[in-house]
Amino acid sequence: MLERLAPDEYVKSIFDIDLDVLKEKGIRGLIIDVDNTLVSWETKTADRRILDWFFVLETKGFRACILSNNTKDRVVKFTEQIRIPAVYRAAKPRKKAFLKAMRAMGTGDKETAVIGDQIFTDVYGGKRLKLYTILVMPVAEREFFTTRFARKVERKIIKNLVKRGDLQEPRTR
Ligand SMILES: [Mg+2]
Repeated sequence: MLERLAPDEYVKSIFDIDLDVLKEKGIRGLIIDVDNTLVSWETKTADRRILDWFFVLETKGFRACILSNNTKDRVVKFTEQIRIPAVYRAAKPRKKAFLKAMRAMGTGDKETAVIGDQIFTDVYGGKRLKLYTILVMPVAEREFFTTRFARKVERKIIKNLVKRGDLQEPRTR
């Protein structure tokens, strides 16, 4: 059961993802979560560093799509400056929205990676479709009340996966 939740990679932040290695693996499209993956949930817009990262993605030839369980307002406002497709109210880990994101990028399952901070939504959703999954450490400690309990369980699962050798400690560059 636990290994069904193990991401392929665990990194400290999006900036620690080795994009060249992903390319070598044949990944062309990235499905990216917003809240606590790119910015904290109270941060409404992307800062310079995030915008630069998306620029690097583009220059390296990656497609990208935002996939968020948050509201239209939140996601549209955040994505405005980045100009990539976005799916809001995604109901992750349901498969439907992941498939929609892949259609938006024109990528198949072997070419698509999911990047997110939550095991039960981002990682599990991606794994249900056999996508490559990258777990990042949450950007901020403060969370919605509803996320707090899931986060506790997730920390336990991550600890266990690391202990069993199914997962490496988060990588930094
Ligand atoms: Mg998140």
